[in-house]
Amino acid sequence: MSKLRFKVVEEAFDRKAIPVNIPEERPEQYFSKYVFNRQKMFEYLPKSTYDALVNAIDNKQALPREVADSVAAGMKQWAIDNGARHYSHWFHPLTDGTAEKHDAFIEWDGKGGVVEEFSGKLLVQQEPDASSFPNGGIRNTFEARGYSAWDISSPAFILDKTLCIPTIFISYTGESLDYKTPLLRALNSVDKAATAVAQYFDPEVKHVKSYLGWEQEYFLVDEALYSARPDLVMTGRTLMGHESAKNQQLEDHYFGAIPSRVEAFMLDLEIECHKLGIPAKTRHNEVAPNQFELAPIFEETNLANDHNLLLMSLMAEVARRHNFRVLLHEKPFSGINGSGKHNNWSLGTDKGVLLFAPGKTPQDNLQFITFVANVMAAVYRHNGLLKASISSATNGHRLGANEAPPAIISMFLGTQLSEILDTLERNDSDDVIKMKGKTGLKLNVDQIPELMIDNTDRNRTSPFAFTGNRFEFRAVGSSANCASAMIALNAAVADQLMDFKKKVDARVASGDTLNHALIAEIKELIKYSKDIHFDGNGYSDEWKAEAEKRGLDCETSVPKIFDAYLNESSVEMFKNTNVFTEIELKARNEVKWEMYTKKIQIEARILGDLAVNHVIPVAIRYQSVLTDNVFKLKTLFPNEKGDNLAQLDLDTIERMSKHMSTIMSEVKKMVNARKEANVIACEREKAIAYHDNVVPCMDVIRYHIDKLELMIDDEMWPLPKYRELLFIR
Ligand code: ADP
Ligand code: MG
Repeated sequence: MSKLRFKVVEEAFDRKAIPVNIPEERPEQYFSKYVFNRQKMFEYLPKSTYDALVNAIDNKQALPREVADSVAAGMKQWAIDNGARHYSHWFHPLTDGTAEKHDAFIEWDGKGGVVEEFSGKLLVQQEPDASSFPNGGIRNTFEARGYSAWDISSPAFILDKTLCIPTIFISYTGESLDYKTPLLRALNSVDKAATAVAQYFDPEVKHVKSYLGWEQEYFLVDEALYSARPDLVMTGRTLMGHESAKNQQLEDHYFGAIPSRVEAFMLDLEIECHKLGIPAKTRHNEVAPNQFELAPIFEETNLANDHNLLLMSLMAEVARRHNFRVLLHEKPFSGINGSGKHNNWSLGTDKGVLLFAPGKTPQDNLQFITFVANVMAAVYRHNGLLKASISSATNGHRLGANEAPPAIISMFLGTQLSEILDTLERNDSDDVIKMKGKTGLKLNVDQIPELMIDNTDRNRTSPFAFTGNRFEFRAVGSSANCASAMIALNAAVADQLMDFKKKVDARVASGDTLNHALIAEIKELIKYSKDIHFDGNGYSDEWKAEAEKRGLDCETSVPKIFDAYLNESSVEMFKNTNVFTEIELKARNEVKWEMYTKKIQIEARILGDLAVNHVIPVAIRYQSVLTDNVFKLKTLFPNEKGDNLAQLDLDTIERMSKHMSTIMSEVKKMVNARKEANVIACEREKAIAYHDNVVPCMDVIRYHIDKLELMIDDEMWPLPKYRELLFIR
């Protein structure tokens, strides 16, 4: 066996579980220990400051300057009491992950020493050097600087002795350069639009909140094995590797017993999560070997998303303590399941009513149907955009593969809800509505008054499924910032609800009763959005043909999928909801295309290097062993017998040569395709060139390398194999 491979496999095999430092207290005592939540605010802030801050948070108002100074002083004291030495604005630029720049609290005291200080000014706004973050040309156009500004709706926290302040990141002229700004705008928009509609049913409703419960899937790989795979280290996925003879066929991993090394990692991670206020709740093995999932209790979308981003960095850190590396890539291994991040999403009023949950009274259920029908219409109208919102170079490997939803957005509703909507649509309105004493409206559909949606009615192949009291957007990628999907979804639903309200109000203004107007408009929506509804098998080829016929967006090329952001209907919708201006949309698409190109470019380079420096030399060495053997056999048996005996080796030599020469010629072709693509000025065209001309070469190269892996003496193969990466823990 190759020396390095032999060493790392042995190292990984010998590894034992690392004991976890379990706190003596129970989780309820240490939960949010490192979060400046309301309890800490109350403790550390003067009463008037506390009231002003809570008021600003609850009513989405700006924080007065004098209050900011007082908040900063209290926050600093709390942070110092908990061992912090630095502070940092923590933001979500248009890269993967988060950004932070740390400053110590120290300032000169005028006597040659220092004091620890933190002013309201530093808390509220900063100007990080934004030039190295992607901006899609916005900063060049406007010669603008970037600002980070405190998002008071998300509490500050202490991570590794640094006080982290969640912030938005915008240009001098107000264009967003991050994910958080448009997310907050989308959430505001859906709050307003949904509140206006919810008030038809309960005039007391003041706010509607958007909730998110993400389920994070990931792989763990022993760090020694990981380090011996340059492709994993540099790209987060294996660019080569023949499938292991045993994979997930036996379905023995899903929900199986969690291995002890992994369990120690999970426990450690959960404790860290809880200290940071992340309500981690569920953990289990996933379908593929060495694949796992963590899910928290759902929270308001903005906070839930901050928590997911924080979780992703925590995972990486805690995994290292346990000699693991965590893989968040959507498709680290070919031939087995990839990783997603289901986004469970719902809307709920400030009175505690979940708007996608059927209620007890007919009126509650009319509200339920109203919101469901509007979501359907929004998802239908913007199906291409929603797909764009979850698309990336990395998620592109997973969608459409045989374990994940296809690259087509459709909606699963389940039998009960489908029947209700069908009945509603078929009945003419007078028939549907019956007034019944105090219960008010009754829909002439038997199930509706005591509607109980059976949430075991599951369809795993749908990218967007109704699951009893929420929708599950399953197409989101495991490494993605959920904000991207949540911005598109919440904004699309907000826009749809505004339109719905306008139409209902118009009917009422012309003399219709409210209930009649609602039902009539719901029926319109059901008819309009019929084509998005699909409860069948999303993996089947028939569905692809059917979806095409229905006019759903079936584009599979990621760079072209991004075009949906610039469709007239998207631009209009984002403008109506104040989420993005057209300038922002264009700039962000530039960033998306550029990112796509860079990721493929890096992968292509690494694959080329591995092919030429790792695989081919080993293949030549093995071929020479075989050639040597042929020579010896023929010398020993210089007749027909010798020819026969050498035939096996000769066949292998020949087959290997074919693979080797194809690899070399494809590498050359790939390098040329890159060169040609690199000189294209337009980011979109460049990304398309990478997709169309570079990626296919990579697929061919990989195919032939994987064939060689099966032929070459196992002892010579330099890189840890799938059976080692996936089964040693
Ligand atoms: P599954 O069976 O799909 O794996 P889980 O029990 O793992 O579901 O949880 C899915 C996620 O959905 C959890 O984070 C849970 O808190 C969240 N969730 C439950 N109800 C809602 C809701 N109404 N809105 C948003 N998220 C929710
Ligand atoms: Mg789950």
